[in-house]
Amino acid sequence: MSGIRNSLQCHCGQRIIARDVMQTGFYLRLFGPSYVYVKYRCSRCKKLGEQFVKQEEWDGGILRNAAEEVAADDKERFDTLGPIDINEVIDFHFQLENLGDLKGIEPPHPPAKKVKQRSSTER
Ligand SMILES: [Zn+2]
Repeated sequence: MSGIRNSLQCHCGQRIIARDVMQTGFYLRLFGPSYVYVKYRCSRCKKLGEQFVKQEEWDGGILRNAAEEVAADDKERFDTLGPIDINEVIDFHFQLENLGDLKGIEPPHPPAKKVKQRSSTER
């Protein structure tokens, strides 16, 4: 047994991800293993294909393209930021407090007065 699969591949070798999938299904069998059915259109060769994956080999992450969920540079940035620490929480709290004073905020411009339209026949 090869264990859990971590990807689906088209016959051409292209990896199948969630956006290629047109249909999934679940085949429950009373005897023997149950199967997850995946119908897809390959993003490279544009061919339709379908595969059955044994339920026990199916991992919900098979179709997830991790690179797409968080762009690589974003991920690097998040990694360097680290977890939110208590000082950041306190700063944020004070920023919210300052927001409470609405008098300091300039009022929006008053709406322009409607100019009465003179009709050209009114003379
Ligand atoms: Zn293909």
